Amino acid sequence: MDDCLFCKIINGDIPTDFIYQDEKIVVFKDISPQAPVHLLFVPREHIGSADDINQENSHLIGHIFEIATRLAKENNLIQGYRIVNNCKEHGGQSVDHIHFHLIGGRQMQWPPG
Ligand code: AMP
Ligand code: ZN
Repeated sequence: MDDCLFCKIINGDIPTDFIYQDEKIVVFKDISPQAPVHLLFVPREHIGSADDINQENSHLIGHIFEIATRLAKENNLIQGYRIVNNCKEHGGQSVDHIHFHLIGGRQMQWPPG
């Protein structure tokens, strides 16, 4: 997708340090961290939002959770953490390429605003 911020990060148009990458996903630090640990997990394939998950691409979501929980352990988030997906306008999604936030290192609140 030519006009997608995260596609530009993935293809190198916007230089970004990847904390982790493999053939399916990239992981990098959120530019505006909301907690001591705030990482973004992004599939290389352009998928617009959680609304676009289907039988063909859902394996990517399981893979993201596998790697996110591994990186949570590597970041010593032993007291817990939150994995967040914001979906479309009411969900607060600001980049229309599906991604999951791993947020940790402080007490989270519930319910969300
Ligand atoms: P969301 O609001 O759920 O769509 O999340 C998008 C996230 O991308 C926000 O938390 C932003 O801070 C983050 N973000 C925007 N641009 C960049 C960038 N160039 N590098 C890293 N994170 C970014
Ligand atoms: Zn994209």
